Amino acid sequence: ETGLDRTPANYVPLTPVSLLARAAAASGAKIAVIDGSRRLTYADLYTRSRRLASGLARLGIGRLDTVAILAPNVPEMIEAHFAVPMLGAVLNPLNTRLDPATIAFSLSHGGARVVIVEAEYGALAARALADRAEPILVVTIGETGIAGAIPYEALLASGNADYAWTGPEDEWQSLCLLYTSGTTGDPKGAVYSHRGAYLQALGNAVTFGLTTESVYLWTLPMFHCSGWSYPWASVAACATQVCLRKVEPAAIFRLIAEHGVTHLCGAPIVLSMIAHAPENDRLAFPQRVRCAVGGAAPSSTIIRTMEELGFQVTHLYGATESYGPATVCLAQPDWTALTDADRYARMARQGVPLATLEGVSVIDVATGRPVSQDGTTVGEICLRGNTVMKGYLGNPDATGRALAGGWYRTGDLAVWHPDGSVEIKDRAKDIIISGGENISSLEVEEVLMRHPSVMLAAVVARPDPTWGESPCAFLEVKPGGDAPSDQEVIAFCRERMARFKVPKTVVFGVLPKTSTGKIQKFVLREQARAL
Ligand code: ADP
Repeated sequence: ETGLDRTPANYVPLTPVSLLARAAAASGAKIAVIDGSRRLTYADLYTRSRRLASGLARLGIGRLDTVAILAPNVPEMIEAHFAVPMLGAVLNPLNTRLDPATIAFSLSHGGARVVIVEAEYGALAARALADRAEPILVVTIGETGIAGAIPYEALLASGNADYAWTGPEDEWQSLCLLYTSGTTGDPKGAVYSHRGAYLQALGNAVTFGLTTESVYLWTLPMFHCSGWSYPWASVAACATQVCLRKVEPAAIFRLIAEHGVTHLCGAPIVLSMIAHAPENDRLAFPQRVRCAVGGAAPSSTIIRTMEELGFQVTHLYGATESYGPATVCLAQPDWTALTDADRYARMARQGVPLATLEGVSVIDVATGRPVSQDGTTVGEICLRGNTVMKGYLGNPDATGRALAGGWYRTGDLAVWHPDGSVEIKDRAKDIIISGGENISSLEVEEVLMRHPSVMLAAVVARPDPTWGESPCAFLEVKPGGDAPSDQEVIAFCRERMARFKVPKTVVFGVLPKTSTGKIQKFVLREQARAL
């Protein structure tokens, strides 16, 4: 090893910022971002990001300062994903659908020194900032009405277009702070590193097949796990990103047709919205569109519906703690021999690690040992690698618990198949125990989703005097459809599952969802208890 030293020629700390410098140099004239009638080339995106970094530096923001942002999927959100890390500062994208008190909590907990607010969320930010004692700088995109705020464009104008960013000294340095989406009612701030974000971007670009020809549509909120790394992954591929403020079927179809969109991501609910779009909102388009689905379990029914409509589905699984996607359901050679129904069932499995994740394991919760890869023994999914969070900000106890034993413990219960893929049966807290038997809520939902009138299904435990708990099904029917009777739903289930798994109670209505489109089972559990 003599003379084989680490020098500036052969070792540079990894950072996703370098992806933009490279894209601007390699393809400066290419359109990087489309937003309505606005177009930013890669040269523009790089210049604006450097101006923002420099403008923030002039305000005294630097290494490890937190810069929060409250904005929909607009170009400024992408700029912040590069500009803030250029300074060595930490970007904290805030969930725009949270209430003012929770936003105020995040701003304090994350120690934000600046908050960038987009006009649409001016009133929300004003309420979140109302009782704040600590000083904070407010930068506004558009008109927010917040007194003393600095206009975003003025900040850019004050910045240097040639700002010489240096990148982190250490690639382990923090780059983003992401609060978990609160499905379990307990938000914690996961911290990402430059190294992890860089690897996650490359892993996702490869997994989702992004190339310079790709056009990526923002149907996923960018505040969710740094948009699953796609602000950086799209730039790694020199692809074009198309902004979208609000997830509505008409706008999605229009943008797909108008800009030749090839890729989009979303929770199962987004796919469901596309699949069940009113006839008037649908437009024909010649290209094949790849949809990555994750964030909650997609049923094989929704995968099938999307594929039959001509979309190509990629199933991803992950968590805020794993920078978003950690596993992908890779197509396997033996799938060609399967019937359509079996192939869609396989596609609903969570799959195998992304190329940039070290590994996935399914462990016996009691012994901590890997379960057998037999496709039937249930254990907890654990993840390990460079794209697992550094930890939770200011919460060493929760960090210790989450990362104990050299693995990130996801709390998701799954079986491990002989082909190495994992298949989630439930979240640990969502499993239903009836008469001593474990019932996977996902398995029951999978059957309910096959009912022709059902658009969404969620099954939770309801206290039961005889069985301890019994399955209670909450159903949302397809638009314009009539709700079937309880008896009909129960009979439908009886024909398709073991008797003890059949829901004893059926409730119709609109299901409560989180800001990222996940069904809030803890709310439904309370409703079931009160029935
Ligand atoms: P929260 O825990 O508040 O929902 P996250 O957004 O971090 O916040 O959610 C991660 C969780 O979402 C995972 O642990 C898992 O339970 C669920 N999840 C994500 N992707 C999938 C998927 N493809 N299939 C099943 N569950 C998923």
